Amino acid sequence: MGASNTKFRFKDLYQFKGYKFCDSFVENNNILVVLKRTSKTGICPCCNKRCRYIHSRTKRKIRDLDVVDSKVYISFTSYQLDCNCGYNGYEELDFCEDYSRFTKRFEEKTVILCMKMCIKDVAKEMRIGWEATKRIDKKNAAKYVIDLEQVNPKRIGIDEIAHEKGHKYLTVVRDVDLGKVIWVGKNRRKETLDEFFKKLGIRKSWNIDVAVCDMWDPYIASIKANTNAAIVFDKFHIAKAITEAVDKVRKQEFAKADKEERINMKHKRFLILSRQKNLVSEKQEELRQLFDQNKNLFVAYLLKEQALDIFDEQRESVGLKRFKKWFKNVHDAGIEQFNEVAKRIDKYFYGIANYFIYRLTNAQSEGFNNKINIIKRRAYGFRDLEYFKLKILQSCGLKHPQNP
Ligand SMILES: [Zn+2]
Repeated sequence: MGASNTKFRFKDLYQFKGYKFCDSFVENNNILVVLKRTSKTGICPCCNKRCRYIHSRTKRKIRDLDVVDSKVYISFTSYQLDCNCGYNGYEELDFCEDYSRFTKRFEEKTVILCMKMCIKDVAKEMRIGWEATKRIDKKNAAKYVIDLEQVNPKRIGIDEIAHEKGHKYLTVVRDVDLGKVIWVGKNRRKETLDEFFKKLGIRKSWNIDVAVCDMWDPYIASIKANTNAAIVFDKFHIAKAITEAVDKVRKQEFAKADKEERINMKHKRFLILSRQKNLVSEKQEELRQLFDQNKNLFVAYLLKEQALDIFDEQRESVGLKRFKKWFKNVHDAGIEQFNEVAKRIDKYFYGIANYFIYRLTNAQSEGFNNKINIIKRRAYGFRDLEYFKLKILQSCGLKHPQNP
């Protein structure tokens, strides 16, 4: 409470620019607030001047925030102007958008709830329809679309995210230094990313120093065509490919094993895929026993541990030397699954070598992916792709209302 107590008056809730509270009624259990204009002229949204030429007067009744359990409607007259500046249309109102059936503060509350709940629950809470709720949220989410003119990215991260059960993809571009999503595009083709660079503009695209992404040829082609950036492949993506190779060996060895060996191999997947340095000695002993029995699995495990360990290397030259040695070890081991992954790493080695220079990963995207999955779950899959894109930009983007 401030130093002086001010009297609370119901009508103060309904003072808007250009209008004043006139009267209120109960109408079918709802509250109807009638506003009165304070001026016979209207403000032109185009030139911001007062305009005397009124094309038409429209009586409008829009929904406002509830008072206790009652729905509140506001009734007022709004002007359509014929301004000298050439504008004709609705005058500017600070409490309601053109053609909206709701006040701005009603819409704002709806939007805030839509960040926390699914549309269905928000519709129930606000006592409006599902379609109206979505329309309000989509219209407002569109305000968070980042104007690429405002950014000047030096380091970007490119990710794909699956929607609709993995068959369709979106491409998500982050400004690594801002830590924000700056663009979302449909599909994961070269053309998808080309569109981002086109929107960003040639000059800014050529100013990007480094781009981190997965070993995905369409992205690589687009980065090479549109920028001069060094490409870094995400080390977690590479680690995943290597870990998958060990898992394939494990499955193959399990299929070949006899009954007794299988008992020993069961429930060891987690141990085999974990980094050795993260295991307690008791678990390491369990692994040793398993490896005594299965040499192939042991070799595969060592190859995985060696490769993942290289990424902890601080010196570029040593990192590269160790990878060279690793390629030789893979060759000598002659394990098919590792030959495959080594071939892939070799093909993309320039981007792995760049990791030792730029030390960039897609780890940051992890947090965004969690947010995106929450949005996805809330909307039961988001069949309206445009809306989904907007929601991603709203929650991970530059103009997020919680960090403006
Ligand atoms: Zn005007």
